[in-house]
Amino acid sequence: MDTPVNKIDVKRETAALLEKLGVEASAYISGDLASFTPVTGDQIASLKTHSTADAEKIIDKADEAFRKWRLVPAPKRGELVRLLGEELRAAKADLGRLVSIEAGKIPSEGLGEVQEMIDICDFAVGLSRQLYGLTIATERPGHRMMETWHPLGVVGVISAFNFPVAVWSWNAALALVCGNAVVWKPSEKTPLAALACNAIFARAAKKFGDAPEGLSQVLIGDRAIGEVLVDSPKVPLVSATGSTRMGREVGPRLAKRFARSILELGGNNAGIVCPSADLDMALRAIAFGAMGTAGQRCTTLRRLFVHESVYDALVPRLKKAYTSVSVGSPLETSALVGPLIDKPAFEHMQKALKEAANNGGAITGGERVDTGQANAYYVKPALVEMPKQVAPVTEETFAPILYVMKYSDFDEALRDHNAVGAGLSSSIFTLDLQEAERFLSVDGSDCGIANVNIGTSGAEIGGAFGGEKETGGGRESGSDAWKAYMRRATNTVNYSKALPLAQGVSFDIE
Ligand code: NAD
Repeated sequence: MDTPVNKIDVKRETAALLEKLGVEASAYISGDLASFTPVTGDQIASLKTHSTADAEKIIDKADEAFRKWRLVPAPKRGELVRLLGEELRAAKADLGRLVSIEAGKIPSEGLGEVQEMIDICDFAVGLSRQLYGLTIATERPGHRMMETWHPLGVVGVISAFNFPVAVWSWNAALALVCGNAVVWKPSEKTPLAALACNAIFARAAKKFGDAPEGLSQVLIGDRAIGEVLVDSPKVPLVSATGSTRMGREVGPRLAKRFARSILELGGNNAGIVCPSADLDMALRAIAFGAMGTAGQRCTTLRRLFVHESVYDALVPRLKKAYTSVSVGSPLETSALVGPLIDKPAFEHMQKALKEAANNGGAITGGERVDTGQANAYYVKPALVEMPKQVAPVTEETFAPILYVMKYSDFDEALRDHNAVGAGLSSSIFTLDLQEAERFLSVDGSDCGIANVNIGTSGAEIGGAFGGEKETGGGRESGSDAWKAYMRRATNTVNYSKALPLAQGVSFDIE
C-alpha cells in the first residue's frame, strides 16, 4: 500500500539526531551546501563547504597524523578500530535513521548499512594481528628472504550517495589498522551522515587516548574538492566509489602521478534463471535484488535472462510482485521501496523507459507515485520485457528498472550476460551442477561477484568486494583487500660470511 508522506518534521528530527550523534549545530545550520532529504524533497540543513586551501591543510594534517600513527603497533591500532565498532553499536539506531533520512533507505537497510560498518570493524580488529608477509625460500646459502607490509600514507576516500556510511567504514577500518590516515570526501548529496561518522570516530579516538589529531577527517564539497584529493602528492591511494563516468576522470589523473587507486564504479548486474531453478527462491531473490533500495545499489539486479521453459511460470509472478510492492516513506511507513534520490534520477529513469519502449520493451510499473510532495520522487519499480539486449539495457540506469529477456540456449545467455561494459555482480539460479559450475568457471560470468542461487546484491563484508571492466577492478572490504592499503617490501638478509650473488653471477673486484 502506498502512503503519503507529510506527517513528521524531518528537518527537526535530523537536527535532533545529529545532536545525539555528537555533531555540533554550527556544522549544519548555515553554509553554501544545501542538504535535502529525498523522503520529502525538503531542505534539511546547510553545510559550509571546504575550499581548496582548507582541503590542502586537512591533507597536511592527515599526513602528519600518518607519520605518528604508522609507528603504533598494528594490534594497538586495532584497538582504536575496536572502539570505533563499539561506538557504532551504540549509535546504530540513530545513524541508521539518519541514513534513511538522507539516502531514503527503508529502516532495515539503513540499520543494515550500520551493521556492515560494525562487521568491518570486527574484521579489521582481527586483521590487525594478521598483516602477514611470507617467508620465501632463497637460492643463496645463509640468507633469509621475506616480505614485510608497511603503512602507505594518507588514504583518500571518495564515496557515492547510495552507501553514505558503509563505504567509508570499509575503507577506514582497513586503512587505520594498516597504519594510514584517512581523508574522506562523501557525496555532496549525503554530507550529514559523514559529519555523524566523524563525530563517532572522534569519540572512539578520545577513548583510545593518544590517537594523533587529524587521523580521520572529512572534506565537505562537490567533485572539485574530491579533485584536490585526487591530485595531492600527499595522498598515495584514493579509493573512489561512484559512477563509471567519475572513474574515467579520476583513474587517469591518479595514474598520471603514479598514485594507487581502488575504483568501485557502476554495475549492470544480471541473473540467469535456468530450467531447473527453484522458482520460489529465485522470485524472492530477484524481487529484493531488483527493487530493494529502490534500485539504487551498485549491485542492483538490472538484467534477467529467463529460460523459455520457465518464463511463463516466473515472469507473471514477478509482474504481480512489481504491481503489489509497497512504495512510500521509509520514515513513516513499512513500505519496501523508498524514494529515488532526486529529480535527475527520476528523469533518467523515465528516459530509459521511453527508450526501452521505443525498442520494443513492454513495461509494467515505472510511473511516479504521488505522495503529495512536489520535490520527492517515488516510483513504482519497473519490469520491462525486452525482445533482446539492446539500449538502454546495456547501460546502468541508477533506478529500479529490471529488463527481462527470454533465452533458449545457455551459451547464448552467458554471452549476453557478459556483453556489457560493467562487470560487478552476477547470479545464476539453477539446481544443475554443470550450469552452476560453468557460470563460476573461467568462461562463465566475467564479474567480480558471481553467485549461485543468491541475488546479485547484499554482499557480506568477509569477501573482497568489487568488479571488473568498467566497474574499475578495485577490491575493498574482506579477504586480502587490505593489501591495497599497504606497501610491500621484499627483504633479503645475509647472515653468512660470504656474498653469493643471485643467478650465480660473479663479480670479483680483486
Ligand atoms: P557519482 O559518480 O556522481 O559521485 C560519486 C562521488 O564522486 C561523489 O562524492 C562525487 O562528488 C565524486 N566525484 C564525481 N566526479 C569526481 C571527480 N571528477 N573527481 C573527484 N570526485 C568526483 O556517483 P553517485 O551518483 O553518487 O552514485 C551512484 C553511482 O555509484 C552508480 O553508478 C553506482 O553503481 C556507483 N556505486 C558503485 C559502488 C561499487 O562499489 N562499485 C558502490 C556504490 C555506488
